[in-house]
Amino acid sequence: MMTDKVYLIISEGEMHLKGGNRRYFEQKLISNIDKNLKDIGYDSLYNDIGKIIIEVDDAKSEKAIEALKKVFGIVWIRKAYRCEKDIEVIRRLAIDLVKEKNLKGTFKASSTRADKKFPLNSMELAREVGAAILTNTEGLKVDVHTPEHEVYVDIRKFAYVSVEKHKALGGMPKATNGKALCLLSGGIDSPVALYMMAKRGVKVDAIHFHSYPFTSLQALDKVKGLRDIVASYTGDIKLYSYNMLDAYTAINQNMNVSYTTVVSRRIMMRVAKKLAHDKGYDAIITGENIGQVASQTMYGIKAIEDATDMIIFRPLIAFDKLDIIDIAKKIGTYDKSIEPFDDCCSVFSPDHPQTRPLIADVKREEEKVDIDAIVEDIYKKGELL
Ligand code: ATP
Ligand code: MG
Repeated sequence: MMTDKVYLIISEGEMHLKGGNRRYFEQKLISNIDKNLKDIGYDSLYNDIGKIIIEVDDAKSEKAIEALKKVFGIVWIRKAYRCEKDIEVIRRLAIDLVKEKNLKGTFKASSTRADKKFPLNSMELAREVGAAILTNTEGLKVDVHTPEHEVYVDIRKFAYVSVEKHKALGGMPKATNGKALCLLSGGIDSPVALYMMAKRGVKVDAIHFHSYPFTSLQALDKVKGLRDIVASYTGDIKLYSYNMLDAYTAINQNMNVSYTTVVSRRIMMRVAKKLAHDKGYDAIITGENIGQVASQTMYGIKAIEDATDMIIFRPLIAFDKLDIIDIAKKIGTYDKSIEPFDDCCSVFSPDHPQTRPLIADVKREEEKVDIDAIVEDIYKKGELL
């Protein structure tokens, strides 16, 4: 191309909705972009009339775009070339670009004009550029509704011309919306739940329950692996780990085992609440999903929730399993999740769990043991993985 530098134009998600807080969100976004591009390297990052623009070597642009696709809060990335704000120069650049990329088929020219002093408005500019391309190149027809290519001109402090646009993740810049703890099992759902809340800007750490040595060390490695995959989007995720074996033993020896699932989940909620209180988390996240398994009836969910007074977010509550699997595959957790190592729950889940556990009945079962002491003991022996 005419130059070895390209300009990546960043379209932000919902930050325009944030009014007075916009600067705060944008600063976070810029610092996250900087972190993700650190290894690749870039020449400059600047604001050109409300848009973040990143100047980078063309040779590095593909890698940079891939890295930016993992930054929450970015909706689109356009790869653009920069030129003078002169209609002749812009026309020339658009034609050269179309020729160099050998674009064929249908196209439309579009434009935005953030610098209102530019003599052509966006309609006029698009028309000019479209006409120039039609008369100076071959093999292209205009289709304004469903074009195969878009030639886009953006008039700011500089002029930018782009024929390449990449969809990014969307969401909100990370760690701008409170701090939460995700109950992370080794399953398919909870890593997706964690990812979805983090994508909305929540700073999420994870809490996992195992039953070692009844459950294997591989099961723990699997959870660590899931944490690492999700952390490639979210940045560091702390993983707190607790051994539930004594709790399961107490339940099995003293209670009606059909309550095992609901009572063990209530214990998890209590431990999570203690941790949240000590470390300053505002909410709990789970991968619960209505109707998916016996414990996830309305009664079951209510009975579990009864054990805590924290906000519980269940981002997957109404998703079909196949849709959850789609996301798990997209973010790369699926293959890890289906590794065969069981977490504590599958090992101890009863053959006939209560599907309608009434809170009064659950509490009566729990009174058969010293539940507070069990929770305290589990919490005391927690580890950070
Ligand atoms: P997942 O695929 O996330 O394991 P699931 O379909 O297996 O979910 P359940 O086993 O009923 O559903 O668990 C519901 C939720 O409870 C999980 O999504 C997770 O948030 C939490 N949970 C279950 N087991 C554990 C565990 N061992 N450690 C931490 N959280 C757990
Ligand atoms: Mg599970």
